[in-house]
Amino acid sequence: MNQKLMKQEKLLNYINGEWVEPSTEKFTAVKNPANKETLVQVPLSNKEDVESATESAKKAQKNWALVPAPQRAEVLYRVGLIMKDRKEHLSQLLTMENGKVIEEARGEVQEGIDMAFYMAGEGRRLFGQTTPSELKDKFAMSVRAPVGVVGIITPWNFPIAIATWKSFPAIVAGNAVVWKPATETPIMAFELAKIFEEAGLPNGVVNVVFGSGSSVGEAMIEQDDIRVISFTGSNNVGRNIASKCGQKLKKVSLEMGGKNAVIVMDDADLSLAVEGILWSAFGTSGQRCTACSRVMVHESLKNQLEERLLNEMAKLSIGNGLDETIKVGPIINQGGLDKIKSYIQIGRNEGAKLLAGGYVMENGAFAKGHYFAPTLFTDVSPDMRIAKEEIFGPVVSLIPIKSLEEAIEINNSVEYGLSSSIFTRDVNKVFQAQRDLDTGIVYVNAGTTGAEIHLPFGGTKGTGNGHRDSGLAALDVFTEWKSVYVDFSGKLQRAQIDVE
Ligand code: NDP
Repeated sequence: MNQKLMKQEKLLNYINGEWVEPSTEKFTAVKNPANKETLVQVPLSNKEDVESATESAKKAQKNWALVPAPQRAEVLYRVGLIMKDRKEHLSQLLTMENGKVIEEARGEVQEGIDMAFYMAGEGRRLFGQTTPSELKDKFAMSVRAPVGVVGIITPWNFPIAIATWKSFPAIVAGNAVVWKPATETPIMAFELAKIFEEAGLPNGVVNVVFGSGSSVGEAMIEQDDIRVISFTGSNNVGRNIASKCGQKLKKVSLEMGGKNAVIVMDDADLSLAVEGILWSAFGTSGQRCTACSRVMVHESLKNQLEERLLNEMAKLSIGNGLDETIKVGPIINQGGLDKIKSYIQIGRNEGAKLLAGGYVMENGAFAKGHYFAPTLFTDVSPDMRIAKEEIFGPVVSLIPIKSLEEAIEINNSVEYGLSSSIFTRDVNKVFQAQRDLDTGIVYVNAGTTGAEIHLPFGGTKGTGNGHRDSGLAALDVFTEWKSVYVDFSGKLQRAQIDVE
């Protein structure tokens, strides 16, 4: 481990405000995907640790819910200030554990800072509704009540941002949290837990249990006292969680994959479209749920777009993301590389034309890490698997189209519905696209990535189950609506019956 950045050799669970060994006493190594060096050891906890974290959360939540929301918010405000102060330190650690280039890591940490200040503001809002009663001398209102103990399960590709999208609204609303971070990227969780502690969050309000999904994650779902599971990750795992939570009538919020498309119309600013495609396809090496992996290009611009993309892709510098000149970092692990590689073969077998990339980079320094060359397929038809399935790597498929209607139909034909984008100068096409694209997020004259924290984040169809992270919508996941009627008439008034 880089001693300047982090002193610990081994991480510990954070339960009831204490740093504790996992009851299994087992750990596993966390490796830097850029060079496979071991960064730190992470606990492999089990059910017992989840039980003690849940117990601690349950106790803490009772008092936390009674702290006035503006005071709860002040803790988040302090969290934001500490994160701001430590932004560079956190960003470098993030690049080391996840691989994303430092500029993007800074952006991700900033997202967490933004979320802290945004949700701190909610401490003085958390609005409910007041409404007239149908009866005389009776008052009616709805208020947001905390759910209690909430479980959050986060992925490796945005290890700090997604954690803040989920934990900050939960905390400000008066819940206590049991959090299981991805085993691939536990350092951000450890750092954030330290920040909660320093900011003065009472013991037990946030508990972090490290360990695998099959052990810690499943144990969280089994805990009756955890009333909500908020999950971001793959579609298969999400479906599995949803069905188990369904059996227990547990509220579950899912954010899963995407097969996001950029549409380039014949009147597009092509230079802008090229920039948008490169940024959203190859940023985080394509390992974003919102990554652009399909480009529907008007047939009149297809050759030009291919040429421009190839020119720009040849200039992308690939390597260790701590180097400020690098634009594309490594893939998270060998499993990720193997999956991407298998899709290249699938694309070839299906008859797509490979214009660039398509291989694991193994020469020289690349052999030390997990690198995949930015890849461009063309002449892809919408029914090919590479045009329908999530690859989660730096692979883009060009699909020629004749009209906006055709592009929208292709966009909507996949099982996912997270993000989409259109490049056009025609205001009519803009409004038609934003209405008809069946995705939770639509961009106009920008790539498929770039969500801001004060708007809802999530998607339709196989991307989720109707809930949203971020924005005010996040509060709906972590609160229950309570309707309160106060009758000050001094007599029994029966609704619907004693109405004059
Ligand atoms: P996984 O679904 O494998 O893992 C996500 C989290 O779930 C991890 O913490 C993992 O733990 C945990 N987990 C795994 N199995 C179980 C289980 N049986 N029960 C409970 N928890 C479990 O996804 P990845 O980490 O591989 O992330 C990549 C995927 O996530 C992509 O498909 C991507 O599209 C999607 N994603 C979606 C986003 C969205 O907002 N729509 C955002 C980011 C990613 P562990 O790994 O420690 O075993």
